[in-house]
Amino acid sequence: MKVWLAGKLVDQDDARLSVFDHATLYGDGVFEGIRIYNGRIFQRQTHVDRLFESARKIRLPIEQTKQEIVDAMYETIAANGISDGYIRLVVTRGIGTLGLSPFKCTKPSTFIIADSIVMYPQEMYDNGMAVIIAKTVRVSADMLDPCIKSLNYLNNICAKIEAIDAGVAEAIMLNVKGNVAECTGDNIFIVKSGQIITPDTDSGILVGVTRGVVMSLARELGLTVIEQQVTPDDLRSADECFLTGTAAEVIAVTKIDESIIGDGAVGEITTKLLTAFREFTTSDQAEG
Ligand code: PMP
Repeated sequence: MKVWLAGKLVDQDDARLSVFDHATLYGDGVFEGIRIYNGRIFQRQTHVDRLFESARKIRLPIEQTKQEIVDAMYETIAANGISDGYIRLVVTRGIGTLGLSPFKCTKPSTFIIADSIVMYPQEMYDNGMAVIIAKTVRVSADMLDPCIKSLNYLNNICAKIEAIDAGVAEAIMLNVKGNVAECTGDNIFIVKSGQIITPDTDSGILVGVTRGVVMSLARELGLTVIEQQVTPDDLRSADECFLTGTAAEVIAVTKIDESIIGDGAVGEITTKLLTAFREFTTSDQAEG
């Protein structure tokens, strides 16, 4: 596998970061996870914009322009012969001293990995998945803005460990108010009386690219989409529940802790949205 690192495609074994990079020492850096469908980079502009916005919020200067990053992503997928897969685009703070100050790191490092995609098992798309509500609370915007897609995912990882310990693949994270935020790597939606509801941006979420696409597709299908505060009771009493994410696409949740959602099967609106989403990924608008 070839990895794009600071302007060059190098063999994976030669794609190395320093132990003094603040990404290694402190998780100081930002990233994006992006899908490739039919050789096209899905929603590439939105992802690159989000990367630059994450970087701006932590005052991390990215050395490349947005266009150079898009070109580098295409170079990387071509070098690896990938037409359907996943891109990991990362910018680290760079090498610095052992102190916290990011401003002693003079050269940020950008790298791009293009690989195959690991999705949830097909059985979960067919029958829905079980999730838990984690005890680990999602950090709030005044602690660490969840819109910064940073290399420090420990808050999410702690909730993911809870999920794995409970024998499920995902965990729902609540915010400090006790309302629903999102999952460890996916956004969450419910369907109630035909309306689609998802936690609003004040709920402490990463504003997912897939979330945005699914909301537009739903509206195009004539469905009502509401962004608001969602409580754990709203989840449990929902007719349908589904998750969205770059890797997950759209996947139904049919059980939350011990509660069965709706009739326990993948709902009609979830199925409609997954179909619409998959059609969209191969359409001419997919690159965004
Ligand atoms: N929330 C979190 C915490 C995430 O890490 C992700 C991405 N894996 C998402 C939501 C979904 O975002 P996207 O649709 O942009 O992949």
